[in-house]
Amino acid sequence: MTIPQELIDDFGRRVNYVRISVTDRCDFRCVYCMSEEMTFLPRDQVLTLEELALVARAFTELGVEKIRLTGGEPLVRRNINHLIEDIGALPRLKDFAMTTNGSNLVKQARRLREAGLKRLNISLDSLDPDRFRRLTRTGDLHKVLAGIQAAKEAGFERTKLNAVILKGRNDDEVIDLVDYARREGLDISFIEEMPLGDVSDHSREETYCSSDEVQALIESRHELFPTTETTLGPSRYFRMSDSESRIGFISPHSHNFCASCNRVRVTVEGRLLLCLGNEHSVDLREVLRRHPGDIEPLKASIVAAMSLKPERHHFTTDGEVQVVRFMNMTGG
Ligand code: SAM
Ligand code: SF4
Repeated sequence: MTIPQELIDDFGRRVNYVRISVTDRCDFRCVYCMSEEMTFLPRDQVLTLEELALVARAFTELGVEKIRLTGGEPLVRRNINHLIEDIGALPRLKDFAMTTNGSNLVKQARRLREAGLKRLNISLDSLDPDRFRRLTRTGDLHKVLAGIQAAKEAGFERTKLNAVILKGRNDDEVIDLVDYARREGLDISFIEEMPLGDVSDHSREETYCSSDEVQALIESRHELFPTTETTLGPSRYFRMSDSESRIGFISPHSHNFCASCNRVRVTVEGRLLLCLGNEHSVDLREVLRRHPGDIEPLKASIVAAMSLKPERHHFTTDGEVQVVRFMNMTGG
C-alpha cells in the first residue's frame, strides 16, 4: 500500500493537528477533571518517550503541522525535555505547543523554550488563592502566577490562558481574568465544562455556564469584535479595540465545532482517539510494541484509523456522563 501524504477522514476533513498526552499524572486534582482519589496507570502501560517521539514523527510525515503536548500535567513527566527536543526538530512541524497548569514553569520555562517548544497554554481558573486551592484541590496560585511570568521571561509568545468557568464557582471572576490577561499581554480562552469522567465534586448540570453567558459578562465591560483568526484549535476568537489580547471561546456544547474538526488525540496509553466525545479509537501501543522502532506500520495504522472518525460528538448538558474517560486520560 502506498501511504498518503495527508490524513483525510470520510467527511473530507483534513487532520493536521494532534494532541498527545504524555502522562496521566498531575500535581493538581481540579474538581472538573479528576476525583480526589485517583489511581494512575502502571508505567509499562504508558508510552515511553521514544515511542511518543516516533508517534509524533509519524504524524508529521502524514501532514500534521501542529502538535500539542498535554496530560495530566506534562511537566511532571520525567525527562520531558528529551521528547521536546525530538519533536522540536521535526522539519514539517509549524506549531509546537503545550498545555500546562503552570505550577512547574518557574523551574522549567527556560529549558522548554531552549528545547524547541514554541507556545504555552496555561490553565488559570481563579485569581483568588483560596478559591484557586478549592478548584484545584492542591494548587498554589502564587506558583502559577510566577510561572506565567517565567514563561514571558523565557520568550514564549502569544501565551494563552485557559479558564473553565463553572456557575456559582468562578463565573464572578470572568472580568477579572480578562483584565489580568490584558495587563499581562496574554490571550485567554474560556472553556465550557465537558462531561468527561464521573466527578464527585459537583453536578455538571448545575455548574454549566455557556460561552454565550461568559461573552455577555465580558461585553458588559469590553466591546468584543469577532475575528476569523485561528490557532488551528477549537477556539473562536474575539478582539478588543484597546488591547492586543484575544478572547477565545471553546464551546463544545453551545457552538458545536465538529464540522471543522481537524484534530485527533493520542492518550497516554497510545490509544488514538478520533473524537473527544466518542469512544472510537485505535491501539497504537500494540502496533508500536509489535514493530519496535518501525515507523511504517504505525503510519499505516494511523491512515486506516481515519475512517473511524465520527461526524460529530454527542455531549449534552443534562448531567449524564457521556464518556467514561477522565480528561487527564484523554489529554485535554
Ligand atoms: N494539566 C494541564 C492543564 O491543566 O492545563 C493539561 C491537561 S488539562 C486536562 C487541559 C485543559 O483541559 C485544562 O485547561 C483544563 O482546565 C481543561 N479541562 C479539564 N477537564 C475538563 C472538563 N471536564 N471540561 C472542560 N475542560 C476541562
Ligand atoms: Fe491536572 Fe490539568 Fe486535570 Fe487540573 S485540569 S487536574 S491541572 S490535568
